[in-house]
Amino acid sequence: MIPYATAAEAEAALGRAMTWAEAAWYQYSAAMPDSWLHCHTTFILFVIYTITPLPLVVLEQFAPSVVLPYKLQPRVRLPLAASLRCYMEAACFFPLAVGFQLVSYPVAVKQILRTRMGLPLPSVREAVAQLVVYSLLEDYLSYWIHRLLHTQWGYEKIHRVHHEFTAPTGFAMSYSHWAENLLLSIPALSGPVIVPCHITTQWLWFSIRLIEGINTHSGYHFPFSPSKLIPFYGGAAYHDYHHYAGGHSQSNFAPLFTYCDYIYRTDKGYRYHKLKQAKLKSLEENNAEKKGGTTAFDIGKD
Ligand SMILES: [Zn+2]
Ligand SMILES: [Zn+2]
Repeated sequence: MIPYATAAEAEAALGRAMTWAEAAWYQYSAAMPDSWLHCHTTFILFVIYTITPLPLVVLEQFAPSVVLPYKLQPRVRLPLAASLRCYMEAACFFPLAVGFQLVSYPVAVKQILRTRMGLPLPSVREAVAQLVVYSLLEDYLSYWIHRLLHTQWGYEKIHRVHHEFTAPTGFAMSYSHWAENLLLSIPALSGPVIVPCHITTQWLWFSIRLIEGINTHSGYHFPFSPSKLIPFYGGAAYHDYHHYAGGHSQSNFAPLFTYCDYIYRTDKGYRYHKLKQAKLKSLEENNAEKKGGTTAFDIGKD
């Protein structure tokens, strides 16, 4: 809730005119309790989780030939029921999350996250700098938690659920044991805890993480993906290999970037696999040229 009765009062406190974004924020949030704004995070994530994976799931079911050239494991076709099961299991957690957010609000937001909700809004530069810090922190912490989940105990007791799909789909992003979802929320929250931000930056951060997670589990790798412009970004092919290799996989633990796996030498399996795929592709292309046809190969396309 913004502690100014009118926009003029807010501008007087700012010592300048509001930007259009600040004016819009004032209109939207001035009379809204902060705890309710905090709950928006879950609503936003629910909408994103419901909508983002849909186009690829629908295309795979009803027009597979359109997306087949970009499918990482083209020989696997998941039934619609599998995607629906993933969606329903994850969707059940969203109402619980709203309740938890409301109950935990006084401590979580006021004391731990120290989230700003008023004016001024953060500048683009501030928001981008925070998102970069959050990404690096999340990647590093998630890398080690993921490695722990691949110990015999961690895998058998917790992580096995997430690896049920050796060819994942966007809705399988959150298909995990509840303890894993809880554990992996620590890296995602660590950035905003260490470097507090405005609630709008938090919405952006969690939205980006969710969309990124859906993308890496989508089972598709599009050559025109804007994520290809991000240095050291792993992407869909990177995490798809982790699922493809299965429970005994000791490769590709990092969720976002490739440098942790490179530094700690946990990308050897993936690099060997890419090499093998490149040779297979070249062989298939040669054969196709001779026959005048097209090629199809499994995984790791660029
Ligand atoms: Zn894993
Ligand atoms: Zn995964």
